[in-house]
Amino acid sequence: MIGGHDPCGGAGIQADIETAAAFGCHAVTVATALTVQNTLGVQRFEPVALDLLGHQLDALLSDQQVSVCKTGMLATAAAVELVAQIVAARDIALVVDPVAIAGSGGALSQRGCIEAIREHLLPLATIVTPNLPESRALTDHDEPGAAAGALLACGCRHVLITGTHADTADVVHRLYRAGDDVIVSRYARLPHTYHGSGCTLAAAIAACLAHGRSVHQAVASALDYTWSSLEQAYPIGHGQWIPRRTIDTK
Ligand code: PLP
Repeated sequence: MIGGHDPCGGAGIQADIETAAAFGCHAVTVATALTVQNTLGVQRFEPVALDLLGHQLDALLSDQQVSVCKTGMLATAAAVELVAQIVAARDIALVVDPVAIAGSGGALSQRGCIEAIREHLLPLATIVTPNLPESRALTDHDEPGAAAGALLACGCRHVLITGTHADTADVVHRLYRAGDDVIVSRYARLPHTYHGSGCTLAAAIAACLAHGRSVHQAVASALDYTWSSLEQAYPIGHGQWIPRRTIDTK
């Protein structure tokens, strides 16, 4: 799990660890950035020095077998390129959550990061999991089918476009694979806004892939788990609610 630290515990590496644990996986975590934020929004972030990031990755990968890598907040284009180089040299499934802006508002990436994700990370990705604003930022397409086509053309094998930000009664998620029918999943829209839902979803997909499930099965289980974690979410402050990830994964 490669991502940023969120001190209020809703998103980032803490979301990854809790989700992996719920699925019976062990998460090893590489921190890309410290953030200053609470449930109301991001105030600041500071990327980890590039050599420290590389050193964290080397130390882990020289010691153990990692079957799946999930990326979240990478913060800088240089960090994206470094992670891409390291993943490209290994046989690791890659789940890319293309984090650029927090759901609560506030930048989580420097200029050039989203372009670097498109150029360097997507060609390696087993699956990319953008929400609608992220799919627009990556492709300039508003329509999910067109955005997914552009993302598949970058080389990633699957695209899951989440529909929380759409103005629809239910939340509609769409899973695309080149030459295959789109798989549509609908969930009842829940009443609050949530901190770290995208992180939870991508981490759950990674955990299910680590268990050897197919991408389709992994996405179905991860969507169910994420919805349940949001249905049982709790408030800790004045803003977004925190997903309850310590739940039964069946
Ligand atoms: N990663 C980090 C470190 C964050 O702080 C955030 C949001 O604040 C995210 C990822 C994305 O969170 P969400 O899943 O709510 O979009």
